[in-house]
Amino acid sequence: MSQPFTLAPLPWEEDALAPVISARTISFHYGKHHQAYVDTLNKLVEGSNYAEMKLEDIVRATAKATDKKEQTIFNNAGQVWNHDFYWRSLTPARTEPDGKLNSAIAAAFGSRDELIKQLAEAGKTQFGSGWAWLVSRNGKLEIAKTANAGTPMAEGINCLLTVDVWEHAYYLDYQNARPKYLEAVLDRLLNWEFASENLAREGEAVRAAAE
Ligand code: MN
Repeated sequence: MSQPFTLAPLPWEEDALAPVISARTISFHYGKHHQAYVDTLNKLVEGSNYAEMKLEDIVRATAKATDKKEQTIFNNAGQVWNHDFYWRSLTPARTEPDGKLNSAIAAAFGSRDELIKQLAEAGKTQFGSGWAWLVSRNGKLEIAKTANAGTPMAEGINCLLTVDVWEHAYYLDYQNARPKYLEAVLDRLLNWEFASENLAREGEAVRAAAE
């Protein structure tokens, strides 16, 4: 039995984001939900061409699938990729945007506060499950939101940061108060160094999507 995809290690200890996100939330979110997407993906792709493909390529190849099984592959592959990206979008270290990212933020939003306001709004207004994103198109920063397992990466858009707004991301800590979760996460946990690295890799990310 092929098991090509594995649960990537968290970039910090499970309790590192507390009290904004508790160790209990991370333990369920990473250990149960994220793990389940990995396990389901492995079962779905076993013996198929997808088992030999990179995760990103599976996501892009199935993003517009009409076939039910391929849609299920997309949902699980997208969720594996989105969760890996989400964990790296968060850090307990107080990071700051570097010069290039700072300039891009100023050009697109005027200020980081305005960026955060718009990112929070995207997360609050995503109806049902999904994700809020900071993305870059040709160096121009934008806010995006996607439903369920959707990801701008599938469209060749360079993702800089994401926040999970599925209920499982916040329910144990904030119950139904998604705006409170967003406010705390956006204020305290965003990994601006990760965003800078992603912005710096923009050409590479766009070329990979075009291949
Ligand atoms: Mn999640």
